[in-house]
Parts: sequence; structure tokens; C-alpha cells
Amino acid sequence: MKIGKVIQWDMGHRVLNHRSVCKGLHGHRYKAEICVEGDLVEKKDASEEGMVIDFADIKKTAQKFIQEELDHAFMVWEKDIELLEFFKNSKGHKPVIVPFTPTAENVAAYIFNQLKDKFTDVFKTGLHLQSVKLWETPSSYALYESE
Ligand SMILES: [Zn+2]
Repeated sequence: MKIGKVIQWDMGHRVLNHRSVCKGLHGHRYKAEICVEGDLVEKKDASEEGMVIDFADIKKTAQKFIQEELDHAFMVWEKDIELLEFFKNSKGHKPVIVPFTPTAENVAAYIFNQLKDKFTDVFKTGLHLQSVKLWETPSSYALYESE
């Protein structure tokens, strides 16, 4: 069974080598669907009986990373020398320097990899992070799934 939780945040980026407007600095209201998979908990009288995981626990785990690390941040590719210089000399910003160009595809994979070890299989139901679907705009998404 798969269940999911949706988390939204604001973040800036640019896609340095993009042929059009995405190479300029801009931001998005990002939306991530965090999908977790596992068998249902059968332990009698457990709070999670009949669940894959408590929705609140998906939210707590994903939200902590996303709110602390990504919300109101600016994602910068480590090869974007101009922006690295800017952030080095400026205060009051929240740069997140990453080893990839911050396309929706790469950001989805990044979030997946940051979160995948944070879900503990407490009830031995095979619980694991199954996918991250990242919406960059209301009509554009990237889906990263575990193999
Ligand atoms: Zn963009």
C-alpha cells in the first residue's frame, strides 16, 4: 500500500544553461508529494494499526527537512560562479549549494535522497520512501521513484 503527504514551500533558483527565461533568477511555489510504501501495521492496539504510517509522521519527517533547509532558500549549482560570489558577499540569504543544476528532475531526486533514510521501519512492514513527485508549477512535475 502506498500513502502520501503533500508539502509546499517557496524557493528560488535558476537553470544556468537554460535556453530561455529559466536562466534568470526566479522562484517557485514548490509542491512535493512524499509517497511512502509498506504493508499495513497489524500490531493490535498500536496507534498505527491498519496504517502504513501515520500521516503526521510523514509530514513531520519531510517538513523538518523542507522547512529548515529549503523554505525561502535559493538553490545554487556549485558551478554557478557568479551566484556563489554573490552569496559569499551578501548576508541575510539562505543559499543551498548543490552539486547539480536545480531542475525539477534533480531537485526531486535530491529530496528523495535526503529523506529516504529518515523513515524507520518500526513495525517491520517493509516501510520505505517510495517516491517524491515534485511540482515546480501547477502543470509541471518530476517524479523520482525508488528502484
Ligand atoms: Zn524555475
